[in-house]
Amino acid sequence: MRLSEFTALVQARSAFDPKTIQQWRKDLRRMTKIYRSINTKPWDYGVYDDSTYDQKRKEKDRAKELAKFGEAAKLFRTFRDNFEKWWRYQLLPQLKRDDQPWVHMQVVEKAHRATVELMGLFPDDYDFKQKKRLPAPWTLERERERNIKRYQVAWNEAFKAIEEYIQDMGEVGDRPALEQMDIEGFNVLLRGWNLLNPSDAKKAIGIIRDGLKLYKENAKKRLPFLLKYNIPFHAAWECREDQAATYDEFKGRIKLCMYWPTAGRPDIKRMAHVIAHEMGHHLWKKVLSGSARKFWEAAIDADWGPMDLQRLLKIWPDDVKFSSSLADKLQKTDPTLSLQIEVANSHWGGKGTHFDTKEDLQELINQGKTVLTMKNPITDYAAKNSEEAFCEAVGSLVGYGPRTLHPLTRQWLQTVLPGMRVGSVRISKMIREAAPIT
Ligand SMILES: [Zn+2]
Repeated sequence: MRLSEFTALVQARSAFDPKTIQQWRKDLRRMTKIYRSINTKPWDYGVYDDSTYDQKRKEKDRAKELAKFGEAAKLFRTFRDNFEKWWRYQLLPQLKRDDQPWVHMQVVEKAHRATVELMGLFPDDYDFKQKKRLPAPWTLERERERNIKRYQVAWNEAFKAIEEYIQDMGEVGDRPALEQMDIEGFNVLLRGWNLLNPSDAKKAIGIIRDGLKLYKENAKKRLPFLLKYNIPFHAAWECREDQAATYDEFKGRIKLCMYWPTAGRPDIKRMAHVIAHEMGHHLWKKVLSGSARKFWEAAIDADWGPMDLQRLLKIWPDDVKFSSSLADKLQKTDPTLSLQIEVANSHWGGKGTHFDTKEDLQELINQGKTVLTMKNPITDYAAKNSEEAFCEAVGSLVGYGPRTLHPLTRQWLQTVLPGMRVGSVRISKMIREAAPIT
């Protein structure tokens, strides 16, 4: 048996292929055979009264037996190492202790025990003549069968635990149901991905990778202190329909919903925006000081004010029916007004009075009502509350660049983030360099 067979095996097959376990079992049986074939008969040590010819022959035989002994020991060592690499890094996902299911912990315990039982199978002895420990195959005579029995019990338990693990993980195809991946230096937990077909899974991973990469690149330029907070992600397929992502305050983890980025053409900028938005929640909940939050809330509150309804009525073309269409139409020529219309009518919040059509608007004017919007609107979702406004500001800055924020919004960001020394210096520089929004 050549050693390379083990190495090839470790790389060749999927950890979840039942043939892999069969192969480990078979190899162990072959190794037991080799172990049993080691010559343990004591060789005439110290008897040198034979003829020179006999003595030379005996020494040669002894060297040969010792070489075989050494080779077998090496074989067991390689087997042990490869097995450990296999279960630790190929079979099991890299999970924190708290996240490990029972079957996972069983594999860790039993497989570890099995590898330990393969140690000490090749005894040595102190040689007084050479003053060092040397291999001593002859001492195996007494303990060999006991050793075999002991390790066989341990290995059977390990194989059983592994088979139970594979069954329990509800394996479909080649991939485990729960997996942890390092993507662009971020820890990403994948749950339930075994239900996807492999090409969809691959595509989705690619989108996550591109999104995280762009987030990282943009944050480095626009808000570098964000990168100080490397929190784990959970890429999920079970999400509410209207959710792009959520921040789990208690787990300190961001859940990325996978349906929207994988449906149609992936929008990587939006991915970067969404990731930065959720990081905004992390900052808001865990990093910002109370006074920084108060400042931001006060700034956003004070930003709400009445819209100039007469002006809006004047520029509203008769052929445009809905306020949302008017906002779309104004996006290029007057992005601020366009956003102000969206914020005023935002179904996420807003401050009460909405208008869907030009007639609605005329009616509001006739009744002398006011419509509130933000003077420096961020996005329509930012109308929800001041925390979301903060997250949308961080998201827009990282995802789409400083020019998508009003100078005043950028100043507020700069004000609430001075504790982040690196960040605030760069932000102020960025604000000086940024062209004003027209
Ligand atoms: Zn949010």
